[in-house]
Amino acid sequence: MAKKETAAKKEKKTEANELKEKLFMKRKVTGMEMSDAEIKKADKFCEDYKAFLDAGKTEREACAEAVRLAQAQGFVPFDKNASYSAGDKVYMTNRGKAVILAVIGKKSVAEGVNLVAAHIDSPRIDLKQNPLYESDGLGYFKTHYYGGIKKYQWPTIPLALHGVIYKADGERVDVKLGEDDNDPVLVITDILPHLADEQYKRPAPKLVKGEELNILIGSRPFRDDKASETVKLGIMQILNEKYGITESDFISAELECVPAYKAKDVGFDRSMVGAYGQDDRVCSYTALSAILSLKGAPDRTAVTILTDKEEIGSEGCTGLQSSYLKYFIYDLGDCFGVNGRTVLSHSKCLSADVNAGYDPTFCEPFEKLNAAYLGRGVVLTKYTGSRGKSGTNDASAEFVSEVRRIFDKEDIIWQTGELGKVDFGGGGTVAMYISNLNVDTVDIGVPVLSMHAPFEITLKNDIYMTYKAFRAFFKA
Ligand code: MN
Ligand code: MN
Repeated sequence: MAKKETAAKKEKKTEANELKEKLFMKRKVTGMEMSDAEIKKADKFCEDYKAFLDAGKTEREACAEAVRLAQAQGFVPFDKNASYSAGDKVYMTNRGKAVILAVIGKKSVAEGVNLVAAHIDSPRIDLKQNPLYESDGLGYFKTHYYGGIKKYQWPTIPLALHGVIYKADGERVDVKLGEDDNDPVLVITDILPHLADEQYKRPAPKLVKGEELNILIGSRPFRDDKASETVKLGIMQILNEKYGITESDFISAELECVPAYKAKDVGFDRSMVGAYGQDDRVCSYTALSAILSLKGAPDRTAVTILTDKEEIGSEGCTGLQSSYLKYFIYDLGDCFGVNGRTVLSHSKCLSADVNAGYDPTFCEPFEKLNAAYLGRGVVLTKYTGSRGKSGTNDASAEFVSEVRRIFDKEDIIWQTGELGKVDFGGGGTVAMYISNLNVDTVDIGVPVLSMHAPFEITLKNDIYMTYKAFRAFFKA
């Protein structure tokens, strides 16, 4: 009896602990908070996610895969002259590199739409316009990398070639080499450590230089003692047989080298996903799944946009600095006799992009109190940018408050994140371009390790929470 009393006394919280519980912020860990059933759902969700990653390694492929999945759920091409009613599901592609999907809501679009915007382009190695050459018996492609890469990470990994070639007569040829088990792969070489003394003296960004990212593509010469460039000729002969192209057709091509391997589970516990291109296909897939999962009409019109060119600053007509999103919203407004400016001014947006996950091995650039952590759920990033919030959308307290309440109501495990220490650099997302349209916008996404590397890491529970967050936003 006496012993029990002591135990009960021990369990009684001190005043400080009681007050702490009341006043301090609680940081939740998905692996502790989620039920076994929900973790199972997360694992299952990520099986489909991995399939999406394997099906779409370029912006064009990811766009086509998103359209395929949307069509299967009854989405039809948007027609600006049609009339729509609540629950109708439409999509519109932009040059096969970006796609906008919408589910018409019960409320008038005059009250705005709920928009989730992610990007489907990822850092990669693009071929130059005159790529083909031979040197000392070996055949190569010259390249110009796309997006922010650590160049030294790309040599000595198997690469696949994806893209399109338009021949002189305008005929399109699709290229996908290195993905089938029987396909050959391509590779960038590196110097052996025995002879790397000089290379080691270079600063890391130049450890491998841009002009050294040459892709090895063949070695067998066309057999003719009198001809020159016989290796190049041998390769060109194969390309002509396989794709019907001649050398000048590279000029009107977009060929992208990406890692040749598939998405994998990572860890003994299979709790993580490792794959190329998770920035930002992890938010693309969750944003896409969220809109595809809507049953019936949401209150407000739901819009998912999967855009191109984010990794090079959202430039070009398929990037979000172009007017294509605005035009879509204007056209959508016209369908209901509402002017586009009214729709935009009342719209809300989650800019769905990844944030840097805290890396215990490389912790120096992170500020621990405000970093995003793997396993703590979806990340809300009020501002990105760098050095004094330059180049960012800084979400308003009012909008953050609204989003926070939506998440809490649906039991979504979420955290805040900031991209590294104040003076350490930074980055941006599409948030600022959407907020430029007078749309309240905040960044929401998945924390990632090894961002922009050929093999990026995410945590399955975080991915599932991100999907749930976007879904909650659409249903709010
Ligand atoms: Mn991104
Ligand atoms: Mn990125």
